[in-house]
Amino acid sequence: MDKIKFATVWLAGCSGCHMSFLDLDEWLIDLAEKVDVVYSPVGCDLKEYPENVDVCLVEGAIANEENLELIHQVRAKTKLLISFGDCAVTANVPAMRNMIKGTDPVLKRCYLELGDENRQLPRFPGIVPELLDRVIPVHEVVKVDMFLPGCPPSADRIQAAIEPLLKGDKPVMEGREMIKF
Ligand code: SF4
Repeated sequence: MDKIKFATVWLAGCSGCHMSFLDLDEWLIDLAEKVDVVYSPVGCDLKEYPENVDVCLVEGAIANEENLELIHQVRAKTKLLISFGDCAVTANVPAMRNMIKGTDPVLKRCYLELGDENRQLPRFPGIVPELLDRVIPVHEVVKVDMFLPGCPPSADRIQAAIEPLLKGDKPVMEGREMIKF
């Protein structure tokens, strides 16, 4: 039987959801026997998102043009897209900047008012991807097949979501530990 093509993507998030994924510890060895990790910041240094991915965990919100381009590629090339963690599901912490209207005031606040002694704005285009006016959750941009909230979701909950999918079953997230975040 062909192995499942498995990917994880890191958009605007703190990487805490990926750290929680690594907390799966020895179950990662079981997982590695069943999947090919074809794209991930923690296991596969590919520049381009590949074709025909079966399952992808997407961490983080959509905050800039780079996130926007990548999430469209991910959607087009992935069968089952999972919004992974509160930043992907609700925009969460990255969306706190939505309280400031417009990207210029956001950049001034971050790089000038709160910067260190070498204060300067990043130069566009190039070094820093251009910010979107608002940070938005993944499902406001593309269709999401499954939501896995939590900040971060615990390793147990990640396993409970992924394990049935590997057998072609639908995950059932029941019990207090599975629904409290
Ligand atoms: Fe970090 Fe929480 Fe966002 Fe995950 S949901 S990327 S842990 S802030």
